[in-house]
Amino acid sequence: MTNIETSTRPPEDAEARRAVAPVICYPNDALPRPDVSWMRSVRQRAVKTGEVLIPPRDARCFDVPAGHFFRITSVEGPQVGDLNLWNLNDLSERFYSGKTRALHGTHLTTGERMWSSFPHLRPMATIIADTLEWYGIDPFGGSVHDVIGTRCDPYTGNLLSGTQYHHCCHSNLTRALADHLDLPLAEAEPAVHDVLNVFMCTGFTRDTGQYFMKASPVRPGDHLEFFAEIDLLGNLSACPGGDCSSEHSSDTAACFPLLVETFAPVEGDLKGWESPARNGYDRTHGR
Ligand SMILES: [Zn+2]
Repeated sequence: MTNIETSTRPPEDAEARRAVAPVICYPNDALPRPDVSWMRSVRQRAVKTGEVLIPPRDARCFDVPAGHFFRITSVEGPQVGDLNLWNLNDLSERFYSGKTRALHGTHLTTGERMWSSFPHLRPMATIIADTLEWYGIDPFGGSVHDVIGTRCDPYTGNLLSGTQYHHCCHSNLTRALADHLDLPLAEAEPAVHDVLNVFMCTGFTRDTGQYFMKASPVRPGDHLEFFAEIDLLGNLSACPGGDCSSEHSSDTAACFPLLVETFAPVEGDLKGWESPARNGYDRTHGR
């Protein structure tokens, strides 16, 4: 019979082990750097091609061709958005929140990118403007635009409190994708994935390591803007949590719309630019 170890008495060298300095897993300087100032100069001359207003507690899809831009703006009141991205021509290539987090850290800002799933692993979109960049990291360890949360969803709500709530971001994204592509809900749902939490202010508590949220510092007029590296299908949900200062997964919080605008570069401005190729790994996996 094997006894299961139930006590975790620290070893004699516990402090020495804790004192080992951390090493950055993926040093930033190893990543190819996007030319953000060039992207901004193209954007300066770009022409608006469309807009979609995301109603509160709902989601909408939008297309952005490679080389075009999209901007997400807070309008009317503080509101958090949950963003999904797919390759417009291949839904199996989608935003990979976990790898984006490993490459850039827990929260994204200007010059950082949203990366796609295996086996593609290439930049889908590059952030070229973030009016909340000033926020930095607050004394609680909180920051904005995280890639640590998943998306609010009805399954976790049911697990924790037995509810049947239908306007979580997961359901909003599912309905919007189904409507946009004329798919049954059951086919759209598996394509919905972990999000970029636009404008959301989050972190992990220092003492217990728990995921926390707090009132978003976003105000009407604040925006986050992207350069589309590949042809994109976007889907944005205006979270039922509103500014996420108290609770989500209910109709309690004050919620506001979010505006998505798209812009096309003028003829010739993308000369010399190429959409990034799929990842170069040969996929033989040692066989
Ligand atoms: Zn949500």
